[in-house]
Amino acid sequence: ARQILIAGNWKMNKGAADGAQLIKDLKAQFGSGCSCCCSGAKKPEVLVCPTFTTLSAVVAEAQGSCLLVGAQNIHWADQGAFTGEISGAMLKECGVTHVIIGHSERRQYFGETDATVNQRLKAALKNGLTAVVCVGETLAEREAGTTNVVVERQVRGALADISADDMKKVVIAYEPVWAIGTGKVASDEQAQEVHAFIRGLLKVMFSCPCVADSTRILYGGSMNAANAAGLLAQPDIDGGLIGGASLKPADFATIVKAAA
Ligand code: 13P
Repeated sequence: ARQILIAGNWKMNKGAADGAQLIKDLKAQFGSGCSCCCSGAKKPEVLVCPTFTTLSAVVAEAQGSCLLVGAQNIHWADQGAFTGEISGAMLKECGVTHVIIGHSERRQYFGETDATVNQRLKAALKNGLTAVVCVGETLAEREAGTTNVVVERQVRGALADISADDMKKVVIAYEPVWAIGTGKVASDEQAQEVHAFIRGLLKVMFSCPCVADSTRILYGGSMNAANAAGLLAQPDIDGGLIGGASLKPADFATIVKAAA
């Protein structure tokens, strides 16, 4: 069985002091020690992804807890003349283990393409980071009936030249753009349908069936304390990538508990 991953994407929220406080609040929600709220085989992994300047403070505060820490972007080069970018080595030095790549906000506002997502993914893997690669259609694309076409193009583009072995460190997040920050969540069935499509695509793309079977596919887009259980009960939904609700410790903890 695939281990559930509940990931919080803090987006451009929480400076270092507020971020460290949010970790304190989360630890209080989960109780003492490193057991989060649950134990045993079904224990979900819990990841938080703050903004770059908050990473070090959050890594320090999360030390000794079960919380994993990731960044929200990575550049493909190790260093060089790339003003405003951050390399994999820099992320590793901060102590992070995960990175979000290709979020729709990066695609929409910052010129991210399938090709640059692929380059960033290769950099993440080269640096030993686990990547959460985001895909998802816009409302216009869904209404035009092209959801699967768009998602297939994004998945194939992101995973170009990625081996079955590399896939052990790749998580896919399906985030329909029309559901992000809108309060308009995909229904359990709508989400499951696309997740099953992505898993089927992995089956076609990788000759080893273990890739499709073991790759985790998260849902993202207005997931919250009220709708998480239904989404997470779907057979091909292996966790969540949560924006707004990840900034509220009680809500985020409720989602984690719904996954257990
Ligand atoms: P919301 O949960 O705020 O809709 O954001 C989802 C998201 O974009 C996570 O990456």
